[in-house]
Amino acid sequence: MNQLGAIINGKHVQTEGSVGVIDPSSGELFAETADCGVAEIDLAVAAAREAGSSWRRVPVADRARILRKISVLVERDRELLADLESKQTGKPMKQARRDVEITVRYFDFYASVVETFYGTTIPLNDDTLIFTRWEPHGVTAHVVPWNYPLQILARSIAPSLAMGNGCVLKPSEETPLTALHLAELALEAGLPAGLFNVVPGFGETAGIALTNHAGIDHISFTGSVEVGKIISRAAAEHTIPVTMELGGKSPNIVFADADLDKAVPVLVNAILQNAGQTCSAGSRLLVEESIHEELVDRLAEAFEKVDIGPASTDPTLGPLISEQQRERVLGYVAWAKEHASVRFGGEALNGGELGNGYYIQPTLIDNVDPTSRLAQEEIFGPVLVVTPFKDADEAVALANGTDYGLVAGVWTTNVSTAHRMIRDVVSGQVFVNTYGASGGVELPFGGFKRSGHGREKGAEGLRGFGQIKTAVVAL
Ligand code: NAD
Repeated sequence: MNQLGAIINGKHVQTEGSVGVIDPSSGELFAETADCGVAEIDLAVAAAREAGSSWRRVPVADRARILRKISVLVERDRELLADLESKQTGKPMKQARRDVEITVRYFDFYASVVETFYGTTIPLNDDTLIFTRWEPHGVTAHVVPWNYPLQILARSIAPSLAMGNGCVLKPSEETPLTALHLAELALEAGLPAGLFNVVPGFGETAGIALTNHAGIDHISFTGSVEVGKIISRAAAEHTIPVTMELGGKSPNIVFADADLDKAVPVLVNAILQNAGQTCSAGSRLLVEESIHEELVDRLAEAFEKVDIGPASTDPTLGPLISEQQRERVLGYVAWAKEHASVRFGGEALNGGELGNGYYIQPTLIDNVDPTSRLAQEEIFGPVLVVTPFKDADEAVALANGTDYGLVAGVWTTNVSTAHRMIRDVVSGQVFVNTYGASGGVELPFGGFKRSGHGREKGAEGLRGFGQIKTAVVAL
């Protein structure tokens, strides 16, 4: 079995205890990492502080060169990384390969952004020169979830390093392996030791120790609303800024004039990608009444054809991350059987090549009360809930009728309807006649309402990892 430690100040560090990593496709333990606590977090934060104090003075072109080298090395190790990512998350290989490609793009992209990222001069009067400088926060803490471990860590580590910070990353206890490999690649690329520390461990120990540490200056958190609130309180204690990338219950709004041939495969992928364990999953379908039956029939037919299997066989639908997660999802389905109509799926699957993995059928639930828990709560599984609407006003009310506001899809051939939806739907991204951003690292991403605040990705993502200093010089 792989025995991996932590990476602190450029060195492998072992701890007394360990955290086991399970392959969700088979339910088998296949690796162990360090179980970091206060002592390791202290070392990592100190290392990031020390290394960061020199790194911020390294010329931008040199910082960018190292980031580009990291992206080249990620590309070199793409199969190894995709394999590890697929094994630890249970995601199909093609999705894992895509995640690695996006990781490559993050390091490349932020190398370019930081090279062209300038302050401004402000023309107050002729006797004063006023200009702004962007400066790093110092030490940034990164706490990430298990659903897209590589992509999500790259989305905040790349801009943070580009801006000149030192970083400490706590990966999810379920998926620490690719983070550790990436930290090794960063060292190989010439990133000075101490700038990118990886401290695997549990949320309740390593996570709490990191986010409450007096030596950190910024927190980037991606995960659930519940943990986001705990971390926000910790940040408030030290009055440091946070970026919160939280959950979603994103609607796909389908009008009667939509091109259903185009929409159906996209709607299916929007909920089945990564087995529905995607913050921006299209997990609510709002459909205009006149095409309700037709669309639900077509989706049920498409769900029936979905191939399900272990991640390594590259199916459309792999397992969920854990037995606990499967139980949670099945709990929603049981509730749906009494309060809505389950049109397809809803059963756990095992045996044969599925072994003891954590599989569940793609599940389509129709006639869902928009105020019920099925329509309000993030299920985080391959479960699509359907609610019909009468007109555009009702569609907007339903779309905005949850605590979340991460992304939304609109399907219509009427340009006015499309623009009205873009204006009125409360969410961080709105897609028209498509869904998802094809991994576009260039596009600012983040939530309205309980889906979070702050933006990652795009040039905005770099700003989040720096702060402006205003200089005033009397002439
Ligand atoms: P989670 O909130 O349970 O855990 C996220 C991370 O926080 C993990 O590393 C965990 O160990 C750590 N953690 C847990 N308790 C902690 C504590 N008290 N203090 C500090 N750290 C702690 O989330 P999850 O189950 O890993 O991921 C699923 C959630 O993440 C979903 O809600 C999903 O929507 C969300 N998510 C959001 C985005 C986004 O970009 N908006 C992306 C992916 C996932």
